Amino acid sequence: MISNETIVALSTPPGAGAIGVIRLSGKDAITITNSVFSGKDLLKQDSHTLHFGLIKDGDMVIDEVVVSLFVAPKSYTKENVVEISCHGSNYIIHQIISLLIRKGASAAKPGEFTLRAFLNGGLDLSQAEAVADLISSDSQAAHSVAMNQLRGGFSTELNLLREQLIHFASMIELELDFSEEDVEFANRDQLQDLINKITLVIHKLIRSFELGNVIKEGINTVIAGRPNAGKSTLLNALLNEDRAIVSEIAGTTRDTIEEVLNINGINFRLIDTAGIREATDTIEAIGVEKTMQKISQSAVLVYLFDVVNLSATEIKEDIVSLYKPGVSFVAVANKIDLSYNDRIKELNLPADINFISISAKENQGIEELKELIYNTAVGDKLSANHTMVTNIRHVEALQRTQTALSSVANGLANPVTSDFLAMDIKQALYYLGEITGAVTTDDLLENIFSKFCIGK
Ligand code: GDP
Repeated sequence: MISNETIVALSTPPGAGAIGVIRLSGKDAITITNSVFSGKDLLKQDSHTLHFGLIKDGDMVIDEVVVSLFVAPKSYTKENVVEISCHGSNYIIHQIISLLIRKGASAAKPGEFTLRAFLNGGLDLSQAEAVADLISSDSQAAHSVAMNQLRGGFSTELNLLREQLIHFASMIELELDFSEEDVEFANRDQLQDLINKITLVIHKLIRSFELGNVIKEGINTVIAGRPNAGKSTLLNALLNEDRAIVSEIAGTTRDTIEEVLNINGINFRLIDTAGIREATDTIEAIGVEKTMQKISQSAVLVYLFDVVNLSATEIKEDIVSLYKPGVSFVAVANKIDLSYNDRIKELNLPADINFISISAKENQGIEELKELIYNTAVGDKLSANHTMVTNIRHVEALQRTQTALSSVANGLANPVTSDFLAMDIKQALYYLGEITGAVTTDDLLENIFSKFCIGK
């Protein structure tokens, strides 16, 4: 799958900028650059050095540049790598890349630099995928999960599991070799223990996806309530200082731009807030189907009510109709700056409903509400050393591993011959290996790297 060609691409975003970085990787990266570079002889320079000079097409000077040299194997791709920092003009970049292609480089395919890094052993597959996540991370939590994966946290955990399974498999294989003699090298109880232990870890990893995924994508959040409850006022109070910067990067899956609130490094995506802002329907508005649909796909539902103008019975009715298992629910009494009677006491909400009183208009309790939203949705599930699965491909592979492992467990409980056990173990190893790339197919690689941008 890896070609001998030297590849070239722009590695910074296209468009005018102060500088653009053109990257080459491959056996001839330095030779090709040297043939158009006027300055020191790059072939005689050390790795990890910078060189100022001119890029010339014949006698014509295209640009003044700085060239960074990374001599194999001390580079991202483990091949010779050159990075040319030029002025960030589309024209210059295009001229330099065309020139390098005329001199023997070929245009890189999407993700080809990272693919080479993987194929040459610089990164494993889940680390390569983390590169893409890291580039697109737009919150502190998404960044730290991707960074942990890039630095090998996830891979280490999986490799540990793999080693244990390989040990298991080798014991079984040994039995197969001596099958005539009817010996059992692998103590069945110990095997059972091992499988249970591994299954538990895998189960934990699968469960972590629920949170891992929302960290990557942001947590869907809806603020619902009757007209005049104070939803717009609250929204403004919430977004006042913490309006997150959400970039419109082409190719990201988000097709609608929402308001995003960042609490403790997690992005809460306030979905379709425009629609909710405009909702001026009557009392039943929160019951209308469209709003309900939004609520059911949300991870957090903030129910806001006017503590002055709504009766305890009405509030309870709303809560009953909005509360859904699986959705984090926060009930918020608004307008406590006004005088109101004992409504909150009358409400007598069940202890497991998260409840807080605020004044959206007077900015009272807003920070506390943010903390409550965070604790309801994330709580203590996010700890620094906790490995988190954020990639759907990984979760699917883990689920298949789990299925294979339950066949092994069945095989141990209702004794089957060693060769059947060996087969199931191999299946489990195969699926686990797919995550880190210990097992790969061209289709799998194609599928992963084609989603990268050119130049990565
Ligand atoms: P929405 O229909 O739910 O979006 O409600 P709005 O945010 O438009 O608020 C309705 C009215 O209630 C406006 O006149 C707000 O100024 C007022 N309001 C909102 N929050 C508070 C509050 O905490 N205290 C008081 N006194 N008035 C509020």
